[in-house]
Amino acid sequence: MGKIYVLKEPRRGDRAWNIYALREAARLKKWFQGVYYSPRLKRLLAVFKPTPGTHVNLEVFEEMNEGVLKDAFRMECPRGCNKCCVFRSGAFILENELRELPSNVAEKIMKQPSELIRTPGGWVRVYRLDTEPMGRCIFFDVEKGECTLEALGGKRFKPIVCLLTYCTVFATRNGEKYLKTGFRVLSDGRVEMHYKRVSDDEWNIMVRRMASTWLRYRKVYKSLKEAESRTSL
Ligand code: SF4
Ligand code: SF4
Repeated sequence: MGKIYVLKEPRRGDRAWNIYALREAARLKKWFQGVYYSPRLKRLLAVFKPTPGTHVNLEVFEEMNEGVLKDAFRMECPRGCNKCCVFRSGAFILENELRELPSNVAEKIMKQPSELIRTPGGWVRVYRLDTEPMGRCIFFDVEKGECTLEALGGKRFKPIVCLLTYCTVFATRNGEKYLKTGFRVLSDGRVEMHYKRVSDDEWNIMVRRMASTWLRYRKVYKSLKEAESRTSL
């Protein structure tokens, strides 16, 4: 079993630290393996596996043995839900992530409202992406129901915050599908999550249920577009 690096948990109420941690995580984006829930540790693990010799900032990462993932659930975001992108997405991207993007995309982002945050690792500019109606992300294609950044360049084009944030409803383990049935916050702040193995049908029913926010949004969006094109004739 090899070594993995797990991003330390965000600090409650310490935005500067959390942005610093995200910036360091973004540097290792191409080695991002996924987010897992460990029932043993009762915590979510954002896992990176950089090639040996890569510099890893141990202020924000902790080293673990890969064996910790043996009984862990992998968090999934099934295609077709889109809830996180369409309504109050809160999406943002950090300045160091722009380097990876094509220049026309980076230029579009640089026109977005932004904020400079003083972090323990220096100043970091954070660009808001949630500026479309009802907090929709500027990169969400409402009609197709997809992230245009991902469509353009795969996961490495997506903001690190989008790669790390999950609703935790959907999970897989050993090729089986699971849905969360409940959770309990323990006295030490850790969270015990419960998952139930489900069939493909049960999984798809849940995806459709979660997709209702996007589908309602898309209906209104399409009717507004049609009304706009009628008035411009
Ligand atoms: S609510 Fe869950 S499944 Fe839906 S888009 Fe967000 S993370 Fe993905
Ligand atoms: S960047 Fe992509 S994944 Fe992130 S909120 Fe926007 S559309 Fe969704």
